[in-house]
Amino acid sequence: MDDRMERFIEKAKELGSHEAKFIDPATVKTAPWVIMKCRYGCGRYNTRLCCPPHTPTYTETREIIDCYKTALLVHCKSWDIVTPIIAKLEKEIFLSGYYKVFGFGSGPCKSCRPCNMVKCIKPQEVRPAMEACGIDVYETVRANGFPIDVVKDFDCEQNCYGLLLID
Ligand code: SF4
Repeated sequence: MDDRMERFIEKAKELGSHEAKFIDPATVKTAPWVIMKCRYGCGRYNTRLCCPPHTPTYTETREIIDCYKTALLVHCKSWDIVTPIIAKLEKEIFLSGYYKVFGFGSGPCKSCRPCNMVKCIKPQEVRPAMEACGIDVYETVRANGFPIDVVKDFDCEQNCYGLLLID
């Protein structure tokens, strides 16, 4: 990993994340079952341009991940701050010269109510969630030493994640 990348961890914290860590992209787990949680478990399925079925399949995501040498896993304590942080970090990393950088956020887009479902009007701010692209977030973060548990109610501690692929 390029030593200059270390500053992106500090930037992630400045933007409001709890912590961030560089990981091997090979540890990012993709799986065919993940889409079922969106298709049959989420009322926002097919109501946002950044949600399934408009997102890459798990096999496409795997091919994309395998194009990268490193990744930054970003841990946040609230899901709704993840995607804004990832979008800002992606821009900063891109402008530093890592032209291939691409970020994944968490949860559905909340920007417009409703989404126009034709063409995104805020492409700089919107990134698909890890899970929306077939990434098994639980297995990925546990493999990299971060906490995550099933959230049973709104009082439970939240451990939410975003991911940046960097090369
Ligand atoms: S920013 Fe608006 S148009 Fe773009 S995905 Fe989100 S809700 Fe849809």
